[in-house]
Amino acid sequence: MTRKNEGDGGLQVVFPQKGVVTLERSAVPEPGPGELVVRIARVGVCATDLHLLDGHIGDPFPLVPGHEFVGVVDAVGPEDDRGIGVGEPVAVEMLVPCHRCDRCREGRHNLCELDDPVRHPGPGRQLGVNIPRTTLPFAGGYATHLVVPRDGVVHRIPDGLDLDTAVLVEPLAVAVRAVERGRVGLGDKVVVIGPGPIGLLAAAAASAAGASEVVVVGGRTGRLALARAFGATETVAERGHRLVPAIRERIPGGPDVVIESAGSVDAQLDAIRIVRRGGRVVLAGACGSGPALSVPSDDYLLTREIDILPSFLAAGGYERALALLAQGRFPFASLVTHVYQLADVERAFAAVHERTDGLIKAVLVPPSP
Ligand SMILES: [Zn+2]
Ligand SMILES: [Zn+2]
Repeated sequence: MTRKNEGDGGLQVVFPQKGVVTLERSAVPEPGPGELVVRIARVGVCATDLHLLDGHIGDPFPLVPGHEFVGVVDAVGPEDDRGIGVGEPVAVEMLVPCHRCDRCREGRHNLCELDDPVRHPGPGRQLGVNIPRTTLPFAGGYATHLVVPRDGVVHRIPDGLDLDTAVLVEPLAVAVRAVERGRVGLGDKVVVIGPGPIGLLAAAAASAAGASEVVVVGGRTGRLALARAFGATETVAERGHRLVPAIRERIPGGPDVVIESAGSVDAQLDAIRIVRRGGRVVLAGACGSGPALSVPSDDYLLTREIDILPSFLAAGGYERALALLAQGRFPFASLVTHVYQLADVERAFAAVHERTDGLIKAVLVPPSP
């Protein structure tokens, strides 16, 4: 094992139980066989982290949250065969797939069928989301160090791409996957509902994939102005029944693809309503476990042959997301509006919760060695 920063104190944010946030010092982790230790440089704050804290997503406690992380390899354990050395800047996928089940082998890691009873049962293993600290220490990104398990997926950050921008790789990879699920191609007319970080990034990814028109729909005018910098050719502030004529005015035949990233069943229904006959609707926003989508089936679905394509996590999107970030075609770094020290996590949560001061993406910075 080689280590760059021997003897550093490790620091991590822990959710010991629902609703409680603590900051804990612990020894710097040593990588076991097949493991890597990454020194975290930047970690994005995601709405998911707040839902985890509120106990809305299972019972993964005690949890080290954070799944949008980038950093530098700090130590490599024995038997690691990923070929990435100490000192290299990396992005790590939140999802730790098994690489062996049928879903993994067909390239759909996000649907990994692993359901290891010693870990949290569910759709695969997700760093910072459902691996309790009692199972694997330093398994989340709100920390100085991250232990990447043997099956974890690590990507080299390309030369010239700074970590302040690279921290957006996870949400961009989610957006890239949504665009790929929708099979967006040259000349397609695309509507994106919801100008949050994923929606803005989906507009950029659709534009990069060759869409000739990208209309971004949402209620906040500040966001809609920003959407134009991310590939939107038009923006619309209408919702519900008024949305159909507003979209038809801009795209007379109706959009080929609608990407829903607002995360509400009302927005999902809007998406189904506005898409052209035979078009594709990508559901990319999480709506929580409560609300049910109710659709007039014959009129909206059967007689219109719409493809409904849910898009979950980011399997396979990371390399293309890194390439898109490195191209510098869109002002990605401008989405990071708020930066906090790791110890100020609760202040960051409050800002995300209240959406203060035009907040789009908040990022935490762990103390450097
Ligand atoms: Zn996230
Ligand atoms: Zn698997």
